[in-house]
Amino acid sequence: MMAEEKKLVIIGGGIAGISAALAARVAYPAAQITILAAEDEPFYCRIALGSLVSGALPKEYLASYAPDFLPARRILYLSGIAATAIDKERHVVITKSQEFPYDSLILATGASPFVPPVPGLKEAAQLLWTMADAEKLAHNLKEQKAAEITIIGGGVLAIESALILAKMGHKVTILEVGAHLMPRQLNDKAAALLQNILENRGITVNCKAQIAAITSKNNAHIISLQNGQEITAALILAQAGVRPNIALAKEAGLAVKNGIIVNEAMETSEPAIFACGNCVEFNGTLELLWNPARRQGEVAGTNALAIKDNYAAKAAELHLKSREIALYSVGDRAEATSMLEESFADGYRALFFNADNELIAAILLGNISGYPQITAAIENKFKRPEGSSGGSVAAILSAIIPPTDDDGHTMEWDGRRWVCRQCGYSYEGPLPPAVCPVCHVGRDQFIPA
Ligand SMILES: Cc1cc2nc3c(=O)[nH]c(=O)nc-3n(C[C@H](O)[C@H](O)[C@H](O)COP(=O)(O)OP(=O)(O)OC[C@H]3O[C@@H](n4cnc5c(N)ncnc54)[C@H](O)[C@@H]3O)c2cc1C
Repeated sequence: MMAEEKKLVIIGGGIAGISAALAARVAYPAAQITILAAEDEPFYCRIALGSLVSGALPKEYLASYAPDFLPARRILYLSGIAATAIDKERHVVITKSQEFPYDSLILATGASPFVPPVPGLKEAAQLLWTMADAEKLAHNLKEQKAAEITIIGGGVLAIESALILAKMGHKVTILEVGAHLMPRQLNDKAAALLQNILENRGITVNCKAQIAAITSKNNAHIISLQNGQEITAALILAQAGVRPNIALAKEAGLAVKNGIIVNEAMETSEPAIFACGNCVEFNGTLELLWNPARRQGEVAGTNALAIKDNYAAKAAELHLKSREIALYSVGDRAEATSMLEESFADGYRALFFNADNELIAAILLGNISGYPQITAAIENKFKRPEGSSGGSVAAILSAIIPPTDDDGHTMEWDGRRWVCRQCGYSYEGPLPPAVCPVCHVGRDQFIPA
């Protein structure tokens, strides 16, 4: 008699959910795999949504797979179906119209934009997280020329949007509540330089901006700051970070803090329920990025019916998706006790060390050459040498980064060919391109060929 096919249900159709499904298909060839995806879209590349807003890519180009890719792998991707509850006792996921029984369940519900609780902001703000958001934004900008646009937030996504919108000819203002741009990833020096670069592109940057209220009339908004300043805007884009979607897990009684708590096998507090991606908290950390979501999804899918793999967090890597501004930040500066820095024309580099003199974080702005080796050095716990060989950024980098030949190719680094994970575009050079010319994802999606 044939063994009964086990049922795996995945809630959430983003990169974490899809990676879980593909990994589970490999690990469990007979399993029934169903993805419930709240958005009315096939799986698409969220990180390229800015190109839909600018008009650089049509919607169809963001679809990551041909229509028969998932069916051919017996993965049922149900768009437009949101899970409304989980019945753990009966092992059933509940939606508006149907119940989905499971042997194993994976939560990959992702994150949603955070809209600061400012009077009038929720009603006035546009978002840029989903395909529907991007289409709405593109539609609203269609008839507008040189519109005054205010972006609430000064993180990496806000800056990428500002660059896109400024290039389209709009007058962009960034309002950041913190003391400087990208406070999590940059120190004040790097942030000041970045601010200068943005201002030279016509973008207004206003830090320490506490918004008191927003009043709106006929699509004209007045943003009142607590210092009395008023800013007018035809469009307000809220990009003030995201928060994990944990409501479903919380209501089902799973352990949650800022995210759904998981262990290294991506198990939640509940047997047979796993979680992965932007919705989870692992080791007290939220990794709100694409690559960790993909890797966590792979582990959750592999473990869904039998534990076989463990997730190990890597140093958080961030690239600005811009062809004009090279910016790379890696690691977490929280534990840094010392720093080496170096400024040069239009550029800045800083390396951060912990109490054991291990390299734990870096910021490269302007010249990002050698960033793959810096990441590897952080992961390999590179120790700052004593004496002059550990006394400057240049000295440390020359120890980490192999020498280059006349064409600038690093001689001992085998990553001269790079492949885009999203579309397979292959590129030859010492570093991958800042933005994939085919699918418009960033440098973080290129891997050595
Ligand atoms: C414009 C933009 C650019 C970005 N650029 C980068 C970048 O360059 N590099 C990078 O690392 N990250 C980038 N990010 C962030 C990156 O997209 C996210 O980290 C990643 O998408 C997280 O994947 P995920 O699958 O965990 O969650 P999500 O992508 O948020 O997907 C979760 C999905 O689950 C669905 N869902 C939620 N609840 C339910 C439910 N109850 N039932 C059914 N479905 C549900 C949601 O609708 C959503 O579609 C960018 C994001 C945006 C918006």
